[in-house]
Amino acid sequence: MKKTLLACVALLSVGAAWAEYPDKPVTIVVPFAAGGPTDKVARDLAEALRKPLNATIVIENVGGAGGTLGATKVSKAAPDGYTLLLHHIGMSTAPALYRNLQYKTLDDFEYLGLINEVPMTLISRPNLPANNYAELQKWLHANQGKINLANAGLGSASHLCGLLYMSTIKIDMTTVPYKGTGPAMTDLIGGQVDIMCDQTTNTTSQIDGGKVKAFAVSTPKRLGGSLAKLPTLDESGVKGFNVSIWHGMYAPKGTP
Ligand code: ASP
Repeated sequence: MKKTLLACVALLSVGAAWAEYPDKPVTIVVPFAAGGPTDKVARDLAEALRKPLNATIVIENVGGAGGTLGATKVSKAAPDGYTLLLHHIGMSTAPALYRNLQYKTLDDFEYLGLINEVPMTLISRPNLPANNYAELQKWLHANQGKINLANAGLGSASHLCGLLYMSTIKIDMTTVPYKGTGPAMTDLIGGQVDIMCDQTTNTTSQIDGGKVKAFAVSTPKRLGGSLAKLPTLDESGVKGFNVSIWHGMYAPKGTP
């Protein structure tokens, strides 16, 4: 009888604990710097979750090493629902690119779901002397060996899109890694780096505001809205070019 009572009390307290979730702030780790696309998606998501969860949601930016530092942090966090990870395709590219990854992508996380998928745009510093894709192509050929490509580190979306672009057009560029494309965008606007391939999440407002030049989109079809005038890379002669970026949400393995 005493045992049954204890078991009931234990069950009730487990129930109560879950009924109360979340009873403290939930942290979403963004494995890139603030001000970039992953950060923006996480902040929009946090805004949407705040009311239904009735919780404080904190965004923690743990940028560096193409997103692997943030992913490492979440893989080692307590599996209690209070630490989540918002990451993108870097989650699936890192195992092939990093020799000493501190986590096992398939074993160390619960996969919560796909959050969004976005196209990318090829953009440049505002003072680059080209105003359409044909002029950009000419400029790239004339400046081989001197071109800087900003990106968010090895295996990041901007890095892979940039590398695919370089190898398709057969022009080498110096890759300049940042902790995210938020700070990379600041340097691109300031003219410290030449070109970048980044999600429309981050580029649309800068293109619309004339802060950067835009030459093409990475998807096989043109986009809508204010970017509708941009050609696809495929129609600009970079045949078959097709890149879009998904973001997903993850929790440490064992999170119920
Ligand atoms: N856009 C990024 C990438 O290139 C990262 C970020 O969201 O800052 O992977």
